[in-house]
Amino acid sequence: MLTYFTCPFFLALCDFSTHKKKVAGPIQIVQANEHNFELNATALEEVLLQKHVKDLNVVVVSVAGAFRKGKSFLLDFMLRYMHNRDKDSWIGGNDEPLTGFTWRGGCERETTGIQVWSEVFVVEKPDGDKVAVLLVDTQGAFDSQSTIKDSATVFALSTMTSSVQVYNLSSNIQEDDLQHLQLFTEYGRLAMEEVSEKPFQSLMFLIRDWCFPYEFCYGMKGGNEFLDKRLQVKHNQHEELQNVRNHIQHCFSNINCFLLPHPGLKVATNPKFDGRLRDIDEDFKKELAQLVPLLLAPSQLVEKEIGGNKVTCKDLLEYFKAYIKIYQG
Ligand code: GDP
Ligand code: MG
Repeated sequence: MLTYFTCPFFLALCDFSTHKKKVAGPIQIVQANEHNFELNATALEEVLLQKHVKDLNVVVVSVAGAFRKGKSFLLDFMLRYMHNRDKDSWIGGNDEPLTGFTWRGGCERETTGIQVWSEVFVVEKPDGDKVAVLLVDTQGAFDSQSTIKDSATVFALSTMTSSVQVYNLSSNIQEDDLQHLQLFTEYGRLAMEEVSEKPFQSLMFLIRDWCFPYEFCYGMKGGNEFLDKRLQVKHNQHEELQNVRNHIQHCFSNINCFLLPHPGLKVATNPKFDGRLRDIDEDFKKELAQLVPLLLAPSQLVEKEIGGNKVTCKDLLEYFKAYIKIYQG
């Protein structure tokens, strides 16, 4: 009789434990359907309301920019870093395929939207505070009037909800990259209730396939020198150019730029490339090894703040729900 009753109970426990060990993966939380934005609140709740993280202050690192420019590829290295933080080398083995957020070659379009990694990482900062780290991937199109509006929404939402926004660009900072940034951040700024002096936190321009290391060297030092020059406001500049620059400087409390070399032809063009280090150029790996800890090392982590207050995972869920409404209908 006893076994009859204990068995189902035991089975239920097993079930519960297998459920808890669900494999980590990307979760689509925001999606554009025919230019209408939807939040998958249930999925986001499952991520942000996990017992061990829901009351921790959250650090949100997001990567945004046009399709097929290596955003997901970069995020997969961020995942590697988060998984191997305690080891001497986090970057992985030479023949280890890269996994995580879906990344792929070709030019076919993906859904415009936002994905988060289901596993929220708990990290102890040097001051002893424990924080929750959420990694965010975005997909935008940036190529026609209608898709620019959608991309603006994705960019605005992800900037409003992140503590670090990585603006992923190819080869240079063009004037229209700055104009897009102005449009996207204005889209976000207007939607926020409390418009403080600087509505957003950190912005990192990440320039891929940088070809002028002799003018500005790879990495953040060269990047910041280059950025200073690109964001400089000059009196003889057209008013529009001045406005764009002033706007961007006023939107973020912290702006940096990092120059990444080209990863090599196998990464860029070989359809069989699976992300293994052996096929990636040395220069790229060297700079990547600098970049990822700049974004994710415990001493670098900056908690998300909204209206001057730190935000927990649980709060972040509510902000997502409130912000998405602004862009619906
Ligand atoms: P996403 O759409 O921005 O997320 O781009 P993916 O991460 O899916 O990458 C698109 C393609 O670009 C893949 O074939 C990658 O191998 C390749 N790729 C990744 N990083 C770089 C880079 O820094 N430069 C170049 N040229 N290609 C890259
Ligand atoms: Mg992607």
